[in-house]
Amino acid sequence: MSCLFCKIVTGEIPSTAAYEDASSYAFADIHPQAPVHLLIVPRKHIPSLDATDESHRSLLGHLLWVAAQIARDKGLGKGYRVVVNTGEDGGQTVDHLHLHLLGGRSLTWPPG
Ligand code: AMP
Ligand code: ZN
Repeated sequence: MSCLFCKIVTGEIPSTAAYEDASSYAFADIHPQAPVHLLIVPRKHIPSLDATDESHRSLLGHLLWVAAQIARDKGLGKGYRVVVNTGEDGGQTVDHLHLHLLGGRSLTWPPG
């Protein structure tokens, strides 16, 4: 398996952990776009949101719950953003499903 985030999940490639449980792992983005910029990934390899089906419903809900837990833990009470870039037009560059959790500054909208 040559997937970058699979290697991060197993520890083969180092990362700065923010949260972990049996099905998910969260770590600091290497090129942070905000004071808090974490990536939340399933431990299991799923290429993208577009590759999910009925069997992933509870895992997808869990990943969002993890994002909310971390946001509370990090004191992001003023607000934050959760982003799932999907596919080429969505700007996805790593083909392992991940949620970006961004916060700690006022974020602009719309995105590029
Ligand atoms: P995306 O463009 O949505 O696929 O997001 C991929 C993210 O992975 C980008 O924000 C990168 O900065 C981040 N990234 C790439 N390599 C690493 C790494 N080794 N450790 C942490 N984050 C990474
Ligand atoms: Zn993977």
